[in-house]
Amino acid sequence: MGLPGKKLSKSSKRRRAAHFALDQMQLVACKKCSKPILPHRACVYCGTYKSRQVIGKSKSEVLLKEVSKEDIKKELSSKLSSKNKS
Ligand SMILES: [Zn+2]
Repeated sequence: MGLPGKKLSKSSKRRRAAHFALDQMQLVACKKCSKPILPHRACVYCGTYKSRQVIGKSKSEVLLKEVSKEDIKKELSSKLSSKNKS
C-alpha cells in the first residue's frame, strides 16, 4: 500500500483544500411555469424544454406525486383481484 513519503504540512493541506468548496447551484426560472429549475434541463414541474412539451404531463405529475405505501397496496390488490376474476 502506498504511504506518504513526507509529512504534509498544515499550510499545504489547507492550500489544496481551498479549492474543495462546492459552487452554489445555479437555477433559472422556467419559461412556462416560472418555477426554479436547473439550466439546460427539462422542467420537472411542467415537463417543458425550450417552451416545448418534452415530457408528458402525466409523467411529470408522476415524478412529483408522492405515492404512499397504502396507495401501492390498494393498486396491487385491485390488479390482483381483476386478474383472478379473468
Ligand atoms: Zn415549468
